[in-house]
Amino acid sequence: MTSAVLDDPMTQFTNEPVRELRRAPERARLEEALAELDRRLPIAVPVTIGARVRDEPSFDSVDPSDPGRIVARATAATSREVEGAVRVAAEAQREWGARPAIERARAMSRAAGELRERRAELAALAVRECAKPWSQADADVCEAIDFLEFYARGALALDAASPLIQMPGERNTLRHRARGVAAVIAPWNFPLAILAGMTAAALVTGNAVCVKPAEQSPACGLAVVEALRQGGVPDGVIALLPGDGAVGGALVEDPAVHTIAFTGSGAVGLEILRKAASPAAGQRHLKRVIAEMGGKNCVIVDADADLDEVIPALLDSAFAFAGQKCSAASRTLVHERIADELLDRMRGALHTLRVGPAEDFETDVPPVIDPDARARIESALADLGPGSEIERAAVPAGPGYWVAPTIVAGAPADSGVVTSELFGPVLTIEPVAGVDAACEIVDGLGQALTGGLFSRDPATIERVAARTPVGNFYVNRATTGAMPGRQPFGGNRLSGMGFKAGGDEYLLQFVDALVITENTVRHGLPIE
Ligand code: NAD
Repeated sequence: MTSAVLDDPMTQFTNEPVRELRRAPERARLEEALAELDRRLPIAVPVTIGARVRDEPSFDSVDPSDPGRIVARATAATSREVEGAVRVAAEAQREWGARPAIERARAMSRAAGELRERRAELAALAVRECAKPWSQADADVCEAIDFLEFYARGALALDAASPLIQMPGERNTLRHRARGVAAVIAPWNFPLAILAGMTAAALVTGNAVCVKPAEQSPACGLAVVEALRQGGVPDGVIALLPGDGAVGGALVEDPAVHTIAFTGSGAVGLEILRKAASPAAGQRHLKRVIAEMGGKNCVIVDADADLDEVIPALLDSAFAFAGQKCSAASRTLVHERIADELLDRMRGALHTLRVGPAEDFETDVPPVIDPDARARIESALADLGPGSEIERAAVPAGPGYWVAPTIVAGAPADSGVVTSELFGPVLTIEPVAGVDAACEIVDGLGQALTGGLFSRDPATIERVAARTPVGNFYVNRATTGAMPGRQPFGGNRLSGMGFKAGGDEYLLQFVDALVITENTVRHGLPIE
């Protein structure tokens, strides 16, 4: 086993290196893993609570590149099972939470080792279940490994005594304790990494977890839960509850859930926040919600920007994984002096993108996740009406959920394409009078997740960075690809609340703090 167990708690965290896909042997290894996976499809994803497993499939996940291929046959958890899972988790949490932090950290690190060992197979699974092109699928596995290793080390740091001011005759101690049962409600677009990150953070700080993967990616959820159990997380401490939003809703409302870690759309996040705010009858705690939601990410291009750099970075930011990253660029606010040139060149560049099945190494833009996503994106484009200029790349024949990569110029400011997160391969190009006008537009938005700037002027970079409301700001590069420990990630305003994932403070959200102040002046000893 290649697990980097935390024998030495001081081991430095480093990001898991991604595969070099230009090398033929690497590609061959992945193709072999895909062929092996295909022989095992469909994968059964049962409801798993403690040692109990119920496998009575009620819904499927399919390959968006070829929807006739069923990837998983999953069993949706009932509301009684949700309640039962929370009860089992609450019981198991006491022993797990009482273990020394190093034991839980080692379990995370061993689970990371399990993922490393299954790395090619898991990338293949993300290719099939979520149509992630290979480079993105491999990066998803690497990020899942990173989260496990990063939070393992973070939990040890959190556990170490925090220095408080000490006075003679008084001892002050700060301790962090697990909150209780955490519900992890995950999206499909990082089906391994985000689910693994939220789950590991809750587990390593001593909580038990009920995991609800997205309905589009139950098999990826199962793979992470299996790795954690193999790494040493006791059965009762982690439950897998496949299903749709109703399962997530039941978890949110369960009075014995203490923490809800949610990543997904703004609408669902707000609903979770509303529901979690009112304690149920008899509930003796407030639920804490960590909600990471969508963005409407703008890239500002100043007149002095180098378009040779801007164009590939914009193509990557807007169209990789068909624009289905929360960090994807969706609006370009370009200085009017160079707007025509940028638009012309982007139109040309658009046609170099190859739309195709996720498993083809040449594919730049895979299909979107499902027919609903395709309908949502196409309807927003159809609503643009006359007056907008739309450029679209070609899509292949075949049954995949293709959406042509699209550039829109002249879109009305109040159109859905400009105001809403489409979560698809659509990029607007909008001329602005200058960088300050662009900053006004960005500041007027409710979402504030990622943003970008292309400029050669350090003073401009500093000025825009100081004004931007976003959580992750990228200068002279693509706006996606945050890595744990290197670019802690998360949005502001309506895009999210809570500390950044992959950052030092993230774990604080899964614990309660206790300060003990002891009078250490002894007024006599008991007589023996
Ligand atoms: P979604 O909100 O539709 O679903 C997310 C999860 O919530 C799924 O597991 C779903 O079943 C569950 N859910 C749905 N309705 C629910 C309800 N009423 N109560 C409880 N749970 C419910 O989002 P999605 O389509 O899976 O993911 C795409 C969205 O996620 C985009 O908006 C994207 O920007 C966002 N996202 C944000 C981040 C971030 O870090 N900020 C990262 C990834 C994705």
